[in-house]
Amino acid sequence: MSTLCTDLDTFMSGLEKRNPGQPEFHAAVKEVAADVLPFMEGKKEYKNECLMERLTEPDRVISWRVSWKDDQGNVRADRAWRVQFSNAIGPYKGGLRFHSSVTKSVLKFLGFEQIFKNSLTGLPMGGAKGGSNFNPKGKSDDEVMRFCQSMMTEMHRYIGPETDVPAGDIGVGAREIGYLFGQYKRMANQFNGALTGKGLSFGGSAGRTEATGHGVVYFMREMMRDCDDDLEGKTALVSGSGNVALYCIEKLITQGAKPVTASDSSGFIYDKEGITRDKLEWLIDLKENRRGRIKEYSEEFGCEYYPDKTPWQIPGDLAFPCATQNELLGDDAKALVKNGLIALAEGANMPCTADAQHILRSEVLYAPGKASNAGGVAVSGLEQSQNAQHSSWSREEVDERLKKIMTNIHDKCAEYGRDGHGTKIDYARGANIGGFVKVADALLKCGVV
Ligand code: NDP
Repeated sequence: MSTLCTDLDTFMSGLEKRNPGQPEFHAAVKEVAADVLPFMEGKKEYKNECLMERLTEPDRVISWRVSWKDDQGNVRADRAWRVQFSNAIGPYKGGLRFHSSVTKSVLKFLGFEQIFKNSLTGLPMGGAKGGSNFNPKGKSDDEVMRFCQSMMTEMHRYIGPETDVPAGDIGVGAREIGYLFGQYKRMANQFNGALTGKGLSFGGSAGRTEATGHGVVYFMREMMRDCDDDLEGKTALVSGSGNVALYCIEKLITQGAKPVTASDSSGFIYDKEGITRDKLEWLIDLKENRRGRIKEYSEEFGCEYYPDKTPWQIPGDLAFPCATQNELLGDDAKALVKNGLIALAEGANMPCTADAQHILRSEVLYAPGKASNAGGVAVSGLEQSQNAQHSSWSREEVDERLKKIMTNIHDKCAEYGRDGHGTKIDYARGANIGGFVKVADALLKCGVV
């Protein structure tokens, strides 16, 4: 490794050589390094500190086998990881993802992003991510429970309220966190805040379920406010129909906007009249309780359904990709801009490809996920505080704190991302540098570790 590396191409070719076959991780690092390396240039305090090289090497990656038995009595074996990326500013913190597409590269990309996101919240949380290629779709509750118990039997050794605090992500919702926490208590013989996203009856925080989706809309509201505009009457395109998407739609409705799309991995619905509160309640029940498909919404409410398509060709003022990574391509970004898009806030992690980001950053207001979807981890941080104090705060109190945190993140992005004329804000640059500064400062002050 070099001691000082300010050239992006040289830095990336070294990183790619050290981490072969990890395209998602390469893309995530490149996006950050393109802003941070020029920022560090010429700054005396960063000289010879090898900061980006240190930050792109996880503290550790743990991987293990998860054996479990399905309902037919067959033994199954899946693979799990925990990437403990950086505890420079606090205990490791980041979600667990259960999906067949999970690889070490995907979790390294997510863990790396999490370092900057957690730093932006202003709370003392390091960056981590974990998960398994186990696919919970179509599995019975008993199968999911047996898998979670087996996974935690190993994972409990590496986590704890002062060490590493996992949470949910794709495929890991309230049910999975409950099973994981049940097994954690049994193995550790402790009831503590080693996991967040817990149910309200066993240490969870009010408002955590809604936090990411609501937070994305709060962030969008701040972006619009900065341009003397608001959300009232704006047509909004949302992708996904999971945790983030559903509560993004909910907050859009209460803010007077008109959400018209939602999707899952089979296709999307286009409800020209707008998704109303009543329709949303039906959709939340479909997705959270009946575990149904988005197509059923079009059958229930008689709107358009497009199988195997994403919603980005539909005209809209605002866009909220809330499903998964790389779901919005360069051509989608072009179509959105052509159709008059004003702003896009990412609910998912890295849903826009590099091509799409490039177009959106120059043409519209573009909020990267590490800033706009930080509300979830922020309320997880608040859950940790409540657990540590053996107290619980009201929904209103948590919501007030969430609003304040999202406004602060917006302002931090503006501080580091506003152009020389003080007008346009490059939120991606602002988030990368704003997230980096605090972590770099902590790394420098803690010696060579
Ligand atoms: P959920 O599992 O609750 O929902 C995911 C949604 O995305 C589902 O509608 C799913 O459809 C859809 N989806 C998943 N994979 C694909 C795909 N390949 N193509 C199209 N649609 C797909 O996850 P969350 O809502 O929790 O997470 C969504 C995103 O937000 C992720 O990127 C996650 O990392 C990010 N995020 C989540 C946070 C949270 O608090 N939950 C916090 C910050 C970021 P289907 O049911 O068909 O799979």
